[in-house]
This record gives sequence, C-alpha cells and structure tokens, in this order.
Amino acid sequence: MGQNRSVAVVGAGQTGVSAAVGFLNAGFDVTLFSDRDRVTLRNRGPATGTAVTFAEAQAAERELGLDDYVGRAPRVTGQSTRMFTGAGTERQDVLDFDVDYDGFQAVGVDTRLKVDERIGEFLVGGGRFVVTVVDADVLDDIASAHDLTLVATGRAGLSELFAVDRSRTVYDRPQRRLLMLTVTGLGHGTDVFAHRGLAGGEHNTFAIDTEQGELWWGPYLHKDAGPSWSFLGFAKPGSDWERRFGTAHDVASAHRVVTEVHRDYVEWDLPEIASTTLIPGDPHAWLRGSVTPTVRHAVGVTASGHPVLALGDTAISYDPIGAQGAQGGLIQAAQLVAAARGHAGPFDQNWLHDRFEHFWTTRGAAAVLVTRLFLGDPDFVQYGQLFFPAAAASPRFGAALFGLLSDPKPLLGIGSRAAARHYVAEKAGESADTLLARVPAANFRYSSYRRQESARTSVA
Ligand SMILES: Cc1cc2nc3c(=O)[nH]c(=O)nc-3n(C[C@H](O)[C@H](O)[C@H](O)COP(=O)(O)OP(=O)(O)OC[C@H]3O[C@@H](n4cnc5c(N)ncnc54)[C@H](O)[C@@H]3O)c2cc1C
Repeated sequence: MGQNRSVAVVGAGQTGVSAAVGFLNAGFDVTLFSDRDRVTLRNRGPATGTAVTFAEAQAAERELGLDDYVGRAPRVTGQSTRMFTGAGTERQDVLDFDVDYDGFQAVGVDTRLKVDERIGEFLVGGGRFVVTVVDADVLDDIASAHDLTLVATGRAGLSELFAVDRSRTVYDRPQRRLLMLTVTGLGHGTDVFAHRGLAGGEHNTFAIDTEQGELWWGPYLHKDAGPSWSFLGFAKPGSDWERRFGTAHDVASAHRVVTEVHRDYVEWDLPEIASTTLIPGDPHAWLRGSVTPTVRHAVGVTASGHPVLALGDTAISYDPIGAQGAQGGLIQAAQLVAAARGHAGPFDQNWLHDRFEHFWTTRGAAAVLVTRLFLGDPDFVQYGQLFFPAAAASPRFGAALFGLLSDPKPLLGIGSRAAARHYVAEKAGESADTLLARVPAANFRYSSYRRQESARTSVA
C-alpha cells in the first residue's frame, strides 16, 4: 500500500528515526530531515533522556521492524523501592519493597545509539537523510512536496506550530528539577544492590524522599561503554536536592553532586554509588533541566494550508518520572504506520486528527495519568497512599503497579478511591483491607557491597 506515497519526517530523535524506518519498511518513500548530522547526533551532545522501554513500547518497536534491544541491553526484571522521610538521625523509613515485573523486561538504551543504528538501517533501506534546519517556511515546502509530513522535533523545535491543548494539559510549570547521569564501574550481578533484594543489579532502584523527591538508578546500555548504569534525580521545587542539582555544570560535578546526595540522604546505597566512575570519552553523559508536562493539538497547518502531524515529545511531553515520553513516541509511530499502510485516501486533516485522537484514547491520556500518579499529584495522592503500601504487602500488586509503566490504561478506569481499592483487590487476589493490615514495617538494610566482588555483568 505504501508504494509511491511519500512521507517526510522532520527531526531525527528516537521518535523520528523510528517512524522513518517504520514507514520505509511499510513501503513508503521516506525522507528524514535533521538539524544535526549523524556524527553530531551520536557524539556531540547528550542523550535526550534515559528512555527506558517496557513491554508495550518494545512491541511497538518490533511492529516497526526495529530491534527492541532486549537481549542486548543489561536486563531489568523488576524494581526495588524505598520510601522515607527526613535525613540522618531524623530519618523515618516508610516503605521497602522489591518486585519482579510480570512477564517482561525493561531496557534502558542510550537514545544516541538507537538513533545512530536506526539512521544506518534507514540509509541501507533506501531512505533519504537530509541535514538542514527546518523552520516554518521550509516545513511548508516539505509538506507541499510530500503526501504525509510528520514533525518530531522534540519539545522545542517547531512546537509553536502546535498550540497547547489547555483541556488536556494539567501543569503550567515543571514539577521536578531533573539531573541525569550515566556511569560505569558497577556491574549488574546479584551482589550489586544485594541489600535491596535477591535480584540485585537486575532491578531498577527507587529512593523516594517524601520531602526532597526521587532518586532512580537503572541498568543501561551506553553507546560506547556498553552495559552501564543510568541515574535520574527528580528534585521537588524548593528542596535541598533542587539546590544541589543546580550546582552541576559538567559531568564530573554532576557525579560529585549525585555521590554527595547519596552520602547525605541515601547512605544505604552509598557503596554502590561510590564505586561508579565516569565514562571515558563521553563528556555529554549527563543532563540537567526540567519539563513542563504539556499536551498539544497535534495537527498543525503550514502557511499554505498543508496539514502536518506532531509526533513524540512535540505532541506530548511528560515529566520523566513515569517513563512515558520515549515509549509514547514509539507507540504513536507504530500506530501511525499501521494505519497509513491500510489507508488508500489522502492523509488530510481529518485523517491526522483521527490518528491522534486514537493515540490519545489508547495511550496518551493514560500515560499522563500514570505520570501524575508517580509525581504524587494531589488529585492522585489518595491512590498513591493506597497503591504503594499495597505493593509493599503484595508482590502481585507490586508487579501490577509497575506494570502501569508499560501499560497505563487500567488507570483510565479508576476514578474513585473505591475503584482504586477494587483494582488493588483484583490484582492482588485479596481485599485491600487484608493487604493494608499486613504492610511490613520498613527497616532499611545497608549495603555491604565491595567493588572487586562485582566482576559479573549479566546480559540476557
Ligand atoms: C531525564 C529524562 C529521562 C527520561 N527517561 C525516560 C524513560 O525512562 N522512558 C521514556 O519512555 N522516556 C523517558 N524520557 C523521555 C524521552 O527521553 C523523550 O520522550 C524522547 O527521547 C523524545 O524523543 P523525540 O524523538 O520525540 O524528541 P528528541 O529526542 O528531542 O528529538 C528531536 C530531534 O529533532 C531535532 N530538531 C529539533 N528542531 C529541529 C528543526 N527545526 N529541524 C530539524 N531537526 C530538528 C533535534 O535536534 C532532535 O534530534 C526521559 C526524558 C528525560 C529528560
């Protein structure tokens, strides 16, 4: 069906390149426009985010004819979570649980590696890669010359073409200050983070300080160093962590800030963190910033009246705490390729509008909800106060809670505390009251990790 129909994709981030390869594999004639050349995309800037994917997004990658990296990236089979309040002698341990995901693995892959490999596949498959900065005038020309034009330029580039949808946008400012860092020197064996659970270095870790924010570590595939670890810090506005994150100005100072925050707040994990080292040759292995979660009207019209569709972060940007941005872009791309393949008519405004509405109802709206749940949004705090203790009491419910990062749709059906309790009971196989009556008391074990013990790196 794709033969002789042309597609332009603007922006060669993870979403744009994935869509471009997917359209090419579906038989379309595809041109990918990028403001940066391939070497610059790979080596002269940071990854856009950690971009962990779970089952649904990995399935979308496979549908597009892409590698999902399961088996290449260090495997991640679950999540360890510790919640506490206060620091030092004032600290109170609130919750401590470690759950396995239900039948899938997560993978964290350097977006620069994915982009570079997918551009390679795109070129081998006969796609055209054009390096140019696309402004509104150039976009108008591109849209007039192609049957379908997609804009995947991230949160900044060209996004003004797509007005903010106030009815779907909840926040008017960032909810967290972010610090991202990729490091090496720590393996992925069971001796790493062994004090948090039997799976050790095969589980992501969360340290949730109810006042300061969240610290997350996850196994990662770095573009050059290979198996490594990614850190994400989420600092609440006005917190000490926010002030500290603000002092990071390069990869070395970011590493120092991360180590000191663990020394002062999360000392039970410190031996692992103190073992980490910088990745030689990658001064861009860090990122500092913030995201105002925003949903846009995804269909725009160029100066001469050509409709274009926003993809990925250009359409919806999320706070990364719910790991929805990269995943949503891949799912949106896969839905679009599948629909275009079976569509014989023009890719007009109505068709584009229907595609985005389909994505919104099947993924986007729920992805916004799961992000709000993990942010502790006041509208969701009553669910969070139920879900996190329930996860500590029931591994089955814990798996369901973190399964929402893969498929957040169940949240669409939870509009009251009664519905939330019903969801807990359904997933746990026992009533919420029974569960909540046996939430184990948290008492954090400390790491006794010694660096030389960890020679192993497990890859699926
Ligand atoms: C700290 C952090 C952690 C994250 N963790 C996760 C996670 O665990 N899981 C998850 O799913 N998501 C995560 N995300 C979100 C995820 O990283 C992004 O949603 C995703 O990478 C966005 O990809 P994109 O291709 O849509 O946009 P981008 O990666 O921003 O790509 C846009 C591309 O367009 C190019 N461009 C811009 N303007 C122009 C122009 N005018 N002309 C031509 N080209 C242009 C840019 O140079 C860039 O190459 C995280 C984000 C952050 C910040």
